Amino acid sequence: MQPAIHPKHTTIDLLVVGGGINGAGIARDAVGRGLSVMLVEKDDLAAHTSQWSSKLIHGGLRYLENYEFRLVGEALAEREVLLRVAPHLIRPLQFVLPHEPHLRPKWMLRAGLFLYDRLGGWSGQKQSLPKSFATSLLPGRAANAAPGTRWGAGLKPQFSDGFVYSDAQVNDARLVVENAKDARARGADVRVGVRLAGASRFPAPNGGRSLWQATLENSATGALDQVQVRAIVNASGPWVKSLLSSIDTPPTKETVKHVKGSHIIVPRVHDAPHAYILQNRDGRIVFVIPYFERFSLIGTTDVAVTDFDAPQISDDETQYLLNLVNTYLAKSLTRTDIVATYAGVRPLYDDGDENPSAITRDYTLKLDDHDGGAPLLNIYGGKITTYRKLAEHAIEKLLPFFPHAKKASWTDTPLQAGETQATLNALVDTLVTRGISNRYAHRLVNRYGLAADGIARDVASLGEIFDDTFSEAEIAYLRDHEWSRSADSMLQRRTKTNLLASPASLVRIRQLVTQAL
Ligand SMILES: Cc1cc2nc3c(=O)[nH]c(=O)nc-3n(C[C@H](O)[C@H](O)[C@H](O)COP(=O)(O)OP(=O)(O)OC[C@H]3O[C@@H](n4cnc5c(N)ncnc54)[C@H](O)[C@@H]3O)c2cc1C
Repeated sequence: MQPAIHPKHTTIDLLVVGGGINGAGIARDAVGRGLSVMLVEKDDLAAHTSQWSSKLIHGGLRYLENYEFRLVGEALAEREVLLRVAPHLIRPLQFVLPHEPHLRPKWMLRAGLFLYDRLGGWSGQKQSLPKSFATSLLPGRAANAAPGTRWGAGLKPQFSDGFVYSDAQVNDARLVVENAKDARARGADVRVGVRLAGASRFPAPNGGRSLWQATLENSATGALDQVQVRAIVNASGPWVKSLLSSIDTPPTKETVKHVKGSHIIVPRVHDAPHAYILQNRDGRIVFVIPYFERFSLIGTTDVAVTDFDAPQISDDETQYLLNLVNTYLAKSLTRTDIVATYAGVRPLYDDGDENPSAITRDYTLKLDDHDGGAPLLNIYGGKITTYRKLAEHAIEKLLPFFPHAKKASWTDTPLQAGETQATLNALVDTLVTRGISNRYAHRLVNRYGLAADGIARDVASLGEIFDDTFSEAEIAYLRDHEWSRSADSMLQRRTKTNLLASPASLVRIRQLVTQAL
């Protein structure tokens, strides 16, 4: 499970620190270019920011107001690529923006959406999602929609018109795991529960550029290990700056701003398949996103923080989100409607803006090869949406140190070979012919993609099945193939079973997890 493919005394090309989306994406890209790669994650894959996003693959309509045209263009082009890279995890989603004349005028929204429809295509990436349009939100008057569509479903009737545009929704934590799995399949040594405890440069035995001596610590046992590496990528997200205190390298002037964002999960506020983007008087926007069959995901906030280890939603943030959605929703929400909450911390590159909502969401890569020594690449900022391009740019920075690495970018290929919407649909049908319920077959394929084929060879091999949402066979799969070592990892990060299964099922599942680990 944890292959020691790099014996102690060989020198590894690249040590990637951090098993969030950026670290996993860089490890996958690098190993596919022919580099030997080790990825270390101190907790669990996607244990931090990468599991607490708004779960959108989007250009970021709002960023246009901050003139972030480079970021929005790249993200929109990536949206199209990622729909092909991970079709079981990323799905198109339409957004309705109710018009509020006193907030943003119609001409401004039209102009913004005109740009949004086109920026992704300007890079040459053909766009397949429907373009934006204006519509009535009143029943029976929906534009560009099948009969019965209610673009204003669940809203107060006073919100009578608005705009519809396209973006996509992602299973963020699973996107990280799928990148790590593909990196491992291509030969990367992925070590989960292993922390980079320190690193220093030392002269290469045969002269030339120095190497890194890195100290790795097993997070559970405290056991230490030493590895020699040619380059380090610091993709530790919120820890990007603090990690530098354990790496022997001159201080950097770069700083990171930690900005917390929180979400609430409530029972579905409307039965239509679209999401809402709601404007607030403070200039911010909040999304109301369909989440699995039964829930709506509402967020997010922007709060500058200094403590980022275990972020929690505050009372003020909860009230802020409730106040805003209640301005729009026909049926008001209260705190008792909240099923779950979560908070994550954005590690943003500090561009000097004091307003947490206005700090750039773009990424910055800083290469440190002090005095011609072994390179250290520090990753600041980034979005889930742009992780693949960030990884390509990271590798470009490192290519001069690795003449043998393949120059051509390659990661626009599916994370699972052969995966398309058609092959996924066919697999659902196959699972149903094996006697698995239609609902659970969909669940398995949406979760594991084509790998669901091997998990569900027949009904008997699944063991106990819970609420058509999780089965005993998944526990072994998650343990043996996805580095999952705790109930939290299996039921919260990898599968969301904690939201989807009944309380009685969860008690039994937890017993089975304890027995299996
Ligand atoms: C509220 C919120 C909403 C967002 N919504 C969206 C969205 O809808 N769409 C979008 O595209 N982006 C969104 N983002 C941004 C996106 O989530 C982040 O940019 C991205 O997840 C950052 O990933 P990362 O890999 O840099 O960091 P992380 O996911 O935090 O990963 C860093 C990892 O490094 C590990 N680590 C740290 N130190 C060490 C060490 N010494 N040794 C080993 N491992 C170490 C940590 O344990 C951690 O797992 C959102 C962010 C937030 C907070």
